[in-house]
Amino acid sequence: MRLSRYFLPVLKETPSEAQIVSHRLMLRAGLIKQAAAGIYSWLPLGYKVLRRIEQIVHDEQIRAGHIPMLMPTLQSADLWRESGRYDDYGEEMLRIKDRHGRDMLYGPTNEELITDIFRAHVGSYRDLPLTLYHIQWKFRDEIRPRFGVMRGREFLMKDGYNFDIDRDAALHAYNRHLVSYLRSYERMGLQAIPMRADSGPIGGDDTHEFLVLAETGESEVFYDSQITDLRFGDRDVDYDSVSQCQSVLEEFTSRYARTDETHDEAAFHAQVPDARRRQARGIEVGQIFYFGTKYSEAMGATVVNATGARVPVHMGSHGIGVSRLVGAIIEASHDDRGIIWPEGVTPFHAGIVNLKQGDAAADAACEALYTALSAAGLEPLYDDRDERAGAKFATMDLIGLPWRITVGPRGLAKGVVELTARRTGDSEELSPAAALDRLAQIYSGV
Ligand code: ATP
Ligand code: MG
Repeated sequence: MRLSRYFLPVLKETPSEAQIVSHRLMLRAGLIKQAAAGIYSWLPLGYKVLRRIEQIVHDEQIRAGHIPMLMPTLQSADLWRESGRYDDYGEEMLRIKDRHGRDMLYGPTNEELITDIFRAHVGSYRDLPLTLYHIQWKFRDEIRPRFGVMRGREFLMKDGYNFDIDRDAALHAYNRHLVSYLRSYERMGLQAIPMRADSGPIGGDDTHEFLVLAETGESEVFYDSQITDLRFGDRDVDYDSVSQCQSVLEEFTSRYARTDETHDEAAFHAQVPDARRRQARGIEVGQIFYFGTKYSEAMGATVVNATGARVPVHMGSHGIGVSRLVGAIIEASHDDRGIIWPEGVTPFHAGIVNLKQGDAAADAACEALYTALSAAGLEPLYDDRDERAGAKFATMDLIGLPWRITVGPRGLAKGVVELTARRTGDSEELSPAAALDRLAQIYSGV
């Protein structure tokens, strides 16, 4: 993309309504624009990041054997009356009447709808296990929408639902989700720690939230500092293996890590030595639940088991806050000049800055780099505007592309361009071909 032809409405002033750094940077870098309280338009650059996060979530869910589909945003109230949640959900649910006076709602989550699909089409244990998921907009009429996309009213969520014959099979599905979530967050350049949590209105006993440590997080968390040394890395887990998934769960959840809802000060002291006890704040970027037969019993989602008896299926639901993640990643990765995108989610792979637009050699070298990067499957953002170098650098720093190639007549006379890492500021002079190789190599590992 050439910046002269793109739509990147960066702001000079820091918007005064934004209280936290990710919200400020998302507005300043032209990622979002507020449409109404807690409701945002995703401008082109923000939309690209959102899509990349979504793609990682899809990849990892499909790798785990979970099946993508799409359910609507608007739902009929009838299903929610069956489960009993139409009254329980309260004011967070946006209730709508259609022209015939029928009660509708904008889905805050989809347990009822998916259970209805299941009971209509699945009747035998032979069709299990089954995990269906979708990535769809949700609406929760939050009392205090704030922090931009972190606590919106309309937000994008991945929600998946597992259907299993018994508790053990459903717990394997739970563990599979834990593994796939660890992989997903690491690919986004994030450390998200599973912490024992409270199940709230979804119901059920087993649940973990995934938290990204950040001062601006809304959750208070208590953990053993050893947990921050754990990395999932590139290990190859067989998602069909009960023992492999179980051992990942044990590795990542055996140390003390809880949100304030389940925190137990006495247990914390008993289990964790003084020097490793940490109290901090975190951003919830996902949650997994096992809730057994709560919805299947209420809504008659049963299957015939191996002995011919009809039994309610065991279920769980598993969510990732896709749009919240854009803010969470920025909270975890920025400096005073702007955003620093991890390679896994960056909207463009590299920026090209032409120091002297209109100089024949500089223009030609930039064009050649642009073509070569694109041919290598990378997406460059070429700042081809007739602007001062300082202004171009400031824009690149603000929008946070992890790599910048700077091209100017002086370097070209020596046959080099400059490759700069956004995170460290370190620069290296290389031939254009070597810069290209370096970037291709960096992104081949992402
Ligand atoms: P919270 O405690 O932050 O209100 P929740 O526990 O009610 O969230 P879940 O039902 O677990 O949310 O939804 C799954 C994920 O969706 C959450 O982990 C979070 O990342 C995201 N999410 C929930 N509410 C919002 C919101 N208002 N804006 C943006 N993302 C949200
Ligand atoms: Mg939650």
